[in-house]
Amino acid sequence: MMAQYLTLKEEAGDCLLFYRMGDFFELFFDDAKVASAVLDIALTARGEHDGEKIPMCGVPIHAATAYLQRLIKAGHRVAIAEQVETPEEAKKRGGSKALVARAIVRVVTAGTLTEEALLDSRVANWCVAVGEAGGAVAVAAAEVSTGRFELFETDAAALGATLARLSPAETVVAEGSPVEATVYRPRGEFDSAKGEARLKALYGVATLDGFGQFDRASLAAAGGLIAYLDHTAKGALPFLRPPVRHAGGATMAIDAATRESLELTCTQAGARAGSLLDAVDRTVTGAGARLLAADLSAPLMDSDAIGARLDLVQRFHDEGSLRERVRAKLRALPDIGRALGRIVAGRGSPRDLGQLRDGLDAAWQLGESLSKIAAPPPLLADLGPRLRGHGALIDLLQRALVPAPPIETAQGGYIAEGFDPALDDLRAAGAGGRRVIAALEAEYRTRTGIAALKIRHNGVLGYHVEVPARAADKLMAEGSGFTHRQTLAGVVRFNAPELHEAALRVTQAGNHALAAEAAHLETLIEEAMARREPIAATADALARIDVAASLAERAVEGGWSRPALVDHACFEVEGGRHPVVEAALAKRAERFVANDCALGEDSRLWLVTGPNMGGKSTFLRQNALIAVLAQAGSYVPATRARIGLVDRLFSRVGASDNLARGRSTFMVEMVETAAILAQATPQSFVILDEVGRGTSTYDGLAIAWAVVEAIHEVNRCRCLFATHYHELTRLAERCQALRLHHVRAREWKGDLVLLHELAPGPADRSYGIAVARLAGLPPATVARAKAVLAKLEAGRAKTGGLAAGLDDLPLFAAAAEQEAQEVDALRDMLAAIDVDALSPREALDALYRLKSLAAEPAR
Ligand code: ATP
Repeated sequence: MMAQYLTLKEEAGDCLLFYRMGDFFELFFDDAKVASAVLDIALTARGEHDGEKIPMCGVPIHAATAYLQRLIKAGHRVAIAEQVETPEEAKKRGGSKALVARAIVRVVTAGTLTEEALLDSRVANWCVAVGEAGGAVAVAAAEVSTGRFELFETDAAALGATLARLSPAETVVAEGSPVEATVYRPRGEFDSAKGEARLKALYGVATLDGFGQFDRASLAAAGGLIAYLDHTAKGALPFLRPPVRHAGGATMAIDAATRESLELTCTQAGARAGSLLDAVDRTVTGAGARLLAADLSAPLMDSDAIGARLDLVQRFHDEGSLRERVRAKLRALPDIGRALGRIVAGRGSPRDLGQLRDGLDAAWQLGESLSKIAAPPPLLADLGPRLRGHGALIDLLQRALVPAPPIETAQGGYIAEGFDPALDDLRAAGAGGRRVIAALEAEYRTRTGIAALKIRHNGVLGYHVEVPARAADKLMAEGSGFTHRQTLAGVVRFNAPELHEAALRVTQAGNHALAAEAAHLETLIEEAMARREPIAATADALARIDVAASLAERAVEGGWSRPALVDHACFEVEGGRHPVVEAALAKRAERFVANDCALGEDSRLWLVTGPNMGGKSTFLRQNALIAVLAQAGSYVPATRARIGLVDRLFSRVGASDNLARGRSTFMVEMVETAAILAQATPQSFVILDEVGRGTSTYDGLAIAWAVVEAIHEVNRCRCLFATHYHELTRLAERCQALRLHHVRAREWKGDLVLLHELAPGPADRSYGIAVARLAGLPPATVARAKAVLAKLEAGRAKTGGLAAGLDDLPLFAAAAEQEAQEVDALRDMLAAIDVDALSPREALDALYRLKSLAAEPAR
């Protein structure tokens, strides 16, 4: 047995191996140690291997799902080795001592789950593969539970943003790839030619032209992904719809650091509560929640597509009764997409078919009612027909299945009465047999005079007669008509010819009925599989309608407005609010102060100053979130918004440590700032909060100064820059598109009052000590800080302060130009020298002149 185990374990590689033995999955060696620790179950031992006891632990089959869930959550992958023949077959094959053959039938991994119990219904579960070819990079992503299959063309710089958008459960790359992944697979699986062949085989087509043009990196990624899914499913490839391709630039680029800092779909601590998604989500279906998360993760760049989404939201916004009706229908809807995913993956149960039946029927009814509304928005006109179209399948499932079909098939009972007369007959025969047995019990009681006589059933003896031990003699007697089977402590068990015959009829009818039900189940599953494309399209349409109705609901609830999207780089928001902070304040019965923002051609960059806790970060983030919401096709928390499409969004907020990634606060800050300066375009929107705080004051100010200049002069993007460096406000005089704003505060009777209100101009002072006092710094320390501050300020008055002299510094572009001129002058001088004609004395003179030119003070 160990030899068989070790062969399978070798095949399983770095997965834990669940080895089926009877009613348990057993784990051995290191696997057992790992699993017993994660699952908190007893570690035992079995036999010996190389003279050492073999560590072992096991989980019962019936509870395996719960244990699997915990192992997957803990980051493991599990290979399931099942018995692939019965003990009888093994004996027939290899004699009485033959070992039952086992094989790995599935590898359970975080990215390839389909089971309802293992998945969060409101979160998409992506398995992705990264492919590379000829310098291009692509990501292939599959949601195995619903069959969604998407391809993203990207490049090395944008790969992080693409992966961050998907937040995959599992990332597969070729061995040796520098990309951080959860699984590394052989390089050959990521070959683009093989990828093309795999795609063709998957869809049974001779050419991929029908799906559009694929670049080689996409083929490599798709091939790698399909190979991996094939490996985990051991040949039973899951349902994959034709791939949806996303070219670079179709969505707003948002890198991982920005997502994290804006807390789009989860907070920095990893929770859903407190994220933008959580503050916006009013969806009533799991598929709707998943689609909303995807929308917010990938705001669109196409104003027509955004407009189409907004039109639908507006319709639901303006017509409350329609919205209510639709939401009530959707609320009762089962998750069709995931039920279909399980069916296609070969793990479909009668319950999944029941969900399809109910979901498709509800979709039909919804489609009917939506088809009656006047002048439907184009998106709805497009989605509506996809809701109605499974009439024959719904009818079949309604006739075939009982109202609430079970997950388990072993007991039967899921095919409805009246669907198949032959099955009804078998059931009647079984029921008749059971009635005969019940009658026999009464008859035996009278015949023997033993009132305590019972007819019972168990797995070993089948139906049998049971009497108390003291009454057994009568039945033991010769000619009693009963045959002794078993004597236990208190009871004795017998068989009887009539009972045997009746029991045989019952089991035979039962077995035939079970087989008939199983055959029907298979046909029903085939029927559903044949319609998987249109069913998946219906599921998508329902999700889109749910998202639109949910966004409308949210907009009504919060008094949000429809944003206007334009194609020049403006950003005008009136009465803007931060949905998450506003909700948090509402819980404490506090009011959020709405603020305006107006960035345009001649006011691209706002420098925001003001006291700590004044609301600077909140203001910055709320505007970034408004851009995300608008381009995702949502109303926005503002009274009016006009936004020029944002191609890339960047946020660098606060000085967050990322020790897990092995970088110091300052290093992280600079790496992210570098990325922004390298990538932001005039269509981009950037929020920078206190850049340059993680180092000494002089270094920090110098960096912040240079970054503001670079953003203003070189990147020319829209930018909100919050800072405590008041010195930066001097830049306003020289950067024509830079505007100063501050969050207002007032000192009242010695106390600081934060007004959270934005006003033009620089802040008058910093209030740092006042905030420290509010925070409860001991009075003596506060007093001392005040004294130190007075001294520092006196010094500043004398010297002109930190930024004295900066006013004479040429601006970023001018400085670069001056430097270029100097280099040119050097070059000219060098070119003018005829080296062969120089005397040693002249050569020395020339060197002196070059040196002095290079050392000119202006540099
Ligand atoms: P620091 O300079 O210390 O980082 P900050 O100016 O960035 O502070 P925020 O973190 O934005 O300040 O806001 C601090 C708190 O003030 C928020 O948690 C919120 O409770 C409150 N606040 C911020 N903006 C508003 C607003 N517009 N209306 C009401 N309260 C607000």
